[in-house]
Amino acid sequence: MVISNSIMLPPELVPDDGRFGSGPSKVSLDALDSLAKTGSAYMGTSHRRDGVRSVVSAIKSGLIDLYNLPKDYEVVLGVGGATIFWDAAAYSLIRHRSQHLLFGEFSSKFAAVVTGANWLAKPEIVASEIGTHPLPIPSMDVDVYALTHNETSTGVSMPIQRAGTDDSLVLVDATSAAGAMTVNPHEFDIYYFSPQKAMGSDGGLWLALCSPSAIDRIDSITQAGRWIPPSLNLANALDNSRKNQTYNTPGLATLFLLRFQIDRLNANGGLTAAASHCEQNALFVYEWAQLSSYAEPFVSNPHQRSHTTVVVDLDPAVSANDVITVLAENGIIDLSGYRKLGRNQLRIGTWPSVTYKDIQRLTAAIDYVVERL
Ligand SMILES: *Cc1c(COP(=O)(O)O)cnc(C)c1O
Repeated sequence: MVISNSIMLPPELVPDDGRFGSGPSKVSLDALDSLAKTGSAYMGTSHRRDGVRSVVSAIKSGLIDLYNLPKDYEVVLGVGGATIFWDAAAYSLIRHRSQHLLFGEFSSKFAAVVTGANWLAKPEIVASEIGTHPLPIPSMDVDVYALTHNETSTGVSMPIQRAGTDDSLVLVDATSAAGAMTVNPHEFDIYYFSPQKAMGSDGGLWLALCSPSAIDRIDSITQAGRWIPPSLNLANALDNSRKNQTYNTPGLATLFLLRFQIDRLNANGGLTAAASHCEQNALFVYEWAQLSSYAEPFVSNPHQRSHTTVVVDLDPAVSANDVITVLAENGIIDLSGYRKLGRNQLRIGTWPSVTYKDIQRLTAAIDYVVERL
């Protein structure tokens, strides 16, 4: 590597792994090694045969264990990621009208999908100031509440609690929470995510933990005569998931890396242990920022601060871009804040795969660079 800047970190401040991105996030090297070791036995084989189907089966049972899911919940998966799941939800889950809690880029995108769906009524939008989260407002007019466990763009997380007791569904985007934050399955109907963030796998897939009410809703909407593109028809996803398959061809490496990570989380104390590891990482960064003369947590309410994507504002005198550039020259990467927020900030992934030691080194490295800029 050519160091073009004069600031070079002393070796004791260089993390073992310089990947601190908020997604795609750090994929463990031993997971990659393990994939490479499968040689000709896995990659390049049919996803309809046992080799791949047993991986899907292990992912399903691993998630049931990890979340301690009630017996009548099911794990459903499909190709495309959380973004495609929003499209599928507009076709296969929302009967008439949904309510969306809007507090950042990802929650806005789901609301935009539904707003444009001309077979649905205009959604109810409950927004809050950026850097905070709103709460659901019980409503007789909605049949779906759309929540986001952790808004990756702003580093705000919210509690997952049912809004009402009627037959509405609670859908939770858990892309940057699943595998890293605890949740009570009785408080949601669908907890869905892409696996390249908290789960430390690769992209291109969505997974959904579904309650019996969610399964009933899929059945009733998809049989009611609404035209649904087959790839967005969750009845097809459900049918294939029950056979340990996906409707169309999945990324086999993504499945493998996801299974590896789920097995590891379960072996290392499950969700509670993973969540407390992330909390420890995150609190270290927040405390460092609070003590620092040039940084402070972007989210002012400590209860709303994310434990997986930590956003830190920098004093205007210290350019976040310069800090990011110098750190990248030293192999520490992907620290940019969400670009559309347009603020002078750093965003740090404190995922289960990121070690406490590397978090400590990272903050020391930032101090070292800022002192010398
Ligand atoms: C990244 C992200 C998404 C989008 O995931 P894709 O896999 O790119 O579709 C959706 N929601 C949240 C909260 C995210 O962090």
